[in-house]
Amino acid sequence: MKDLCILGSTGSIGVSTLKVVAQFPDKFRVRSLTAGNNAKLFAEQVLAVRPARVAIANKDSIPEFKRLAAGWNGDILGGVEGLVELAEERESNYVVSAIVGAAGLLPTLAALKKGKQVGIANKEPLVMAGPLMLAAAQASGATILPIDSEHSAVFQSARAGGPKEIRKVVLTASGGPFRTATLEQMRAATKENALKHPTWNMGAKITIDSATLMNKALEIIEAHFLFGVPYSGIEVWVHPQSIVHALVEFADSSVVAQLGLPDMRLPIQFALTYPERLDGALPPLTLERMKNLNFEAPDRERFPSLNFAYDAGARGGTVPAVLNAANEQAVSLFLDDKIKFCGIFELVGASLAAHREKAVENLETVLEADRWARDFVKSESVRG
Ligand code: NDP
Repeated sequence: MKDLCILGSTGSIGVSTLKVVAQFPDKFRVRSLTAGNNAKLFAEQVLAVRPARVAIANKDSIPEFKRLAAGWNGDILGGVEGLVELAEERESNYVVSAIVGAAGLLPTLAALKKGKQVGIANKEPLVMAGPLMLAAAQASGATILPIDSEHSAVFQSARAGGPKEIRKVVLTASGGPFRTATLEQMRAATKENALKHPTWNMGAKITIDSATLMNKALEIIEAHFLFGVPYSGIEVWVHPQSIVHALVEFADSSVVAQLGLPDMRLPIQFALTYPERLDGALPPLTLERMKNLNFEAPDRERFPSLNFAYDAGARGGTVPAVLNAANEQAVSLFLDDKIKFCGIFELVGASLAAHREKAVENLETVLEADRWARDFVKSESVRG
């Protein structure tokens, strides 16, 4: 029996996780749930699932949650310290990390330090602080199970050989809504255009990241940390149908790939039931969906995000944390209609150019780089 703590249950991944969990009542118990702000959905989830404890990051939402969840008598914690307490308490042995952005760093790190199994969808903390998270997992014996579909695909494909036999990893990208757009069209893109993802249905931040290919940039760094593959051995291929999620090339030039419909319940279920594979009544891949599978090279001029990732990877230290934080801040400005779509590239590029990197010695170094990048992007966006 796995006793789950689901960090970010009100998000797109959190909701899908609860659907997967509901299929297997004899395998999973939900011990605790956390939300950011969404008291209404959180109260519905809590009344349906009845966890023992919950935490809400924004303490101002607690009164509304209490009113809506009347009749449920569990523990309610607030703030990031509440999230950390639930992530590390002994009563759960499996933590699903599904908060969006850097906000997931402290609770995810807390779970890793306690030696738990941790299913990670929340890629941003790995990008910011990969070496610290891996060191925490190694010291405590925690297991990291990737939920991100491409990393789940690498994890599954890599099982066909030994870790030293991997020559190359290919992450696929749908290409997002602007795959075939001109630079002029991208410059004029609205929030509504950017939020229309062709194949995946996801939260707003990752949907914008998919439109800029920044999601793939973050995934390159995530793959480097998760699988120990050098940046020179990580490629991105655009694959508009989102059926082949990743390919692993071995030393003998044999390539093993993982395929599946673009539905996050598949990688979530694998991360939860690993090492077992169970019938969760998910829709199967059909011949119809396989008839036209295309692959193309990404356009790194229109989408400079991939260059940012390789640059950040090569420089190392605090640079990936700056890439992540600058992007988070720029995406938030774009979603608030404060900057244009291509302003995201400009602000992230300027942050990387201006940053003086340091070695990642401890959490404070990472958090300081994160704060620096957010302040830099805010002041640059005002200057214009
Ligand atoms: P959503 O925006 O849909 O959900 C985010 C979750 O995080 C919500 O539960 C939200 O709470 C919570 N949250 C937001 N801010 C805070 C905060 N400051 N403190 C605590 N909790 C907070 O995101 P997604 O589910 O789309 O993505 C989650 C993560 O998974 C991201 O890192 C993303 O890159 C990754 N991922 C997502 C995929 C997808 O298909 N969606 C695919 C692969 C990876 P509330 O809504 O209550 O405010």
